[in-house]
Amino acid sequence: MSILITGGAGYIGSHTSVELLNAGYDIVIVDNFSNSKPEVLNRIKELTGKGFKFYEVDVLDKDALSQVFSENHIEAVIHFAGLKSVGESVAMPINYYYNNITGNLILAEVMAKHNVKKIVFSSSATVYGMNNISPLTEDLPLSTTNPYGSTKLMGEQIFQDIYVSDNEWSIALLRYFNPIGAHESGRIGEDPKGIPNNIMPYITQVAVGKREKLNVFGDDYDTHDGTGVRDYIHVVDLAKGHLKAVEKIMGTKGVKIYNLGTGIGYSVLDLVKNFEEATGVKVPYVITKRRPGDIAACFSDPTKALKELNWKTEKTLKDMCKDSWKWQSNNPKGY
Ligand code: NAD
Ligand code: UDP
Repeated sequence: MSILITGGAGYIGSHTSVELLNAGYDIVIVDNFSNSKPEVLNRIKELTGKGFKFYEVDVLDKDALSQVFSENHIEAVIHFAGLKSVGESVAMPINYYYNNITGNLILAEVMAKHNVKKIVFSSSATVYGMNNISPLTEDLPLSTTNPYGSTKLMGEQIFQDIYVSDNEWSIALLRYFNPIGAHESGRIGEDPKGIPNNIMPYITQVAVGKREKLNVFGDDYDTHDGTGVRDYIHVVDLAKGHLKAVEKIMGTKGVKIYNLGTGIGYSVLDLVKNFEEATGVKVPYVITKRRPGDIAACFSDPTKALKELNWKTEKTLKDMCKDSWKWQSNNPKGY
């Protein structure tokens, strides 16, 4: 019995693969390397001392995906594969809807054909939109402001509708807050292409000397220091949340929705300060104008995941900074 991990070569997928292997699960990874590199697979093996099957397959390729199910005894799927850049999704909505939505549909169709009806889906705090006040609970009204967010909201809807049509399904929709950090070994981490959109890879690239300074997008928000507040979560804590979600869907049916966050909001300047304290490396920054579409504050209420999954985060913001830095400084060019 194996867990199929789509997008397992990516940032969150690789960390989750390590945690699953360390916990004794057999895994099969599917990835098309559209946003990752094959070297990550060697690192996962090195860190765990365990082997696993890998298929260079696009989730949109129904026949190839079906073959993966025919050749393996898949019990459940964790579905990470998808495109994830907000800005890119605004510029290329067709790509985003095509890859993310069609990917969900083809995966679900192939799963049903092979009678595999347990799935963990990567959703995002972006589905809470711009109008809710943090801390965010799972029952709040949802909305989106860009095509990427819409693919996540539609993805949630697709899996809810599949359950309505067939009550044998067991589905966990996980809404991630802001994953940062890396495996404490410094061997796997986030490896963005080009100029990073997200703050932590930008900070580490400034710290390593690849970029001159951080642009802080606005200091006139209604927050404790005027800069944007987010719920940063260590990627290893996030990965462990997937183990709990897998355990949950093994024993139940229905659709379960969980926030995966720390419940604590830190500002951009808090993050810079913690990074400098944790690493001893200075991060020069300038205040620039707000980034369109950004909100002042976004952080989770993680109580439901604690109650129902017995999961909570363990790592601090300093751990996140230290581990991001270890990854970046040991791998200045990524994989
Ligand atoms: P990532 O880009 O590092 O990983 C995604 C992986 O999926 C990549 O290895 C990519 O090559 C692969 N992939 C993409 N389309 C594919 C396809 N059609 N077929 C096969 N493989 C495909 O991203 P990540 O940060 O690890 O995110 C994983 C999931 O979590 C995504 O669905 C993302 O939208 C979601 N998510 C991420 C964040 C975040 O901040 N990183 C926050 C919320 C939700
Ligand atoms: N941010 C910033 N400079 C950057 C990137 C991000 O000041 O180069 C800020 C951004 O305005 C937000 C926070 O950092 O307040 C987190 O942004 P990120 O893009 O990492 O995540 P998201 O916007 O998805 O929460």
